Amino acid sequence: MSESWREIGDGVHVRRHRHLDLNVGLVVGSERCLVVDTGVSHRQGRALLGEVRRITRLPHVVVNTHAHFDHFFGNSVFRPGEVWGHLRCAEMARTYGEVQRALTLAHVAGSGRPDADAQAADLREVLVDPPDRTFEHSAVLDLGGRTVELRYLGRGHTDNDVVVIVPGAGVVLAGDLVEEGNPPAFEDAFPLDWPGTLGALLPLVTGPVVPGHGDVVDREYVRRQAEDLGRVAEVARAVHAGGGDVEAAWPDTPFPEEYARTALRRALRQLRGEPAYDSPEEILAAAGLS
Ligand SMILES: [Zn+2]
Repeated sequence: MSESWREIGDGVHVRRHRHLDLNVGLVVGSERCLVVDTGVSHRQGRALLGEVRRITRLPHVVVNTHAHFDHFFGNSVFRPGEVWGHLRCAEMARTYGEVQRALTLAHVAGSGRPDADAQAADLREVLVDPPDRTFEHSAVLDLGGRTVELRYLGRGHTDNDVVVIVPGAGVVLAGDLVEEGNPPAFEDAFPLDWPGTLGALLPLVTGPVVPGHGDVVDREYVRRQAEDLGRVAEVARAVHAGGGDVEAAWPDTPFPEEYARTALRRALRQLRGEPAYDSPEEILAAAGLS
């Protein structure tokens, strides 16, 4: 897989990274460009900014699709400059940014990868820099000669996923609400809401859809993912009604074991009315990091 830009619509470019199979987007107007997500570290952010400059010298503005480290840890490199995101994206980055750093450092240390030390150094260098331009439902960015719409469509992969709609080019950048190459990630997800959120996305799709990770997909792919997620919600409701046996029920979902268990556990939290997230202290204690 080459890490070069691919133009998938008029002035809309996607760069797919080997690391985590992460996608970053670039929308070029006549006065500004919009960078969609900033990568896992300052190092990746700097490389990305260099790649942006190969396409355009225009000033940049950034949007984070959601507050997961791989989508916003490069933010600081793009300052000064606006960073847009859902208002809860900023909140979650502030509250859980350091927890994400600690968990990712632990994961890297235990990975046995030859570049583990370099990755750890990159993570330690990160200045957690949440979006400063926030919105609740939608925002329109004028890039000069074209506008781009940022929309919050409901809870799904997290409670702060936004999609980027580029009307002129017919492209939607969906962040991790849509996942290709791997099953959707449920660690912070709201599995009961996710199918409806994708249902709200579908009418907005007129061309290519850029997932947060993996290959560019189309409307039919999103429809199928919504269907699979709908099945998870259905199974979760049955588990809840039947007393909560995740072990017996996970094979009824369309997803592999680990993903399915996480999805059902998250859905049960929703159905039982439990808090959506543990506190940073609880998360670190559970991971043996406090
Ligand atoms: Zn994510």
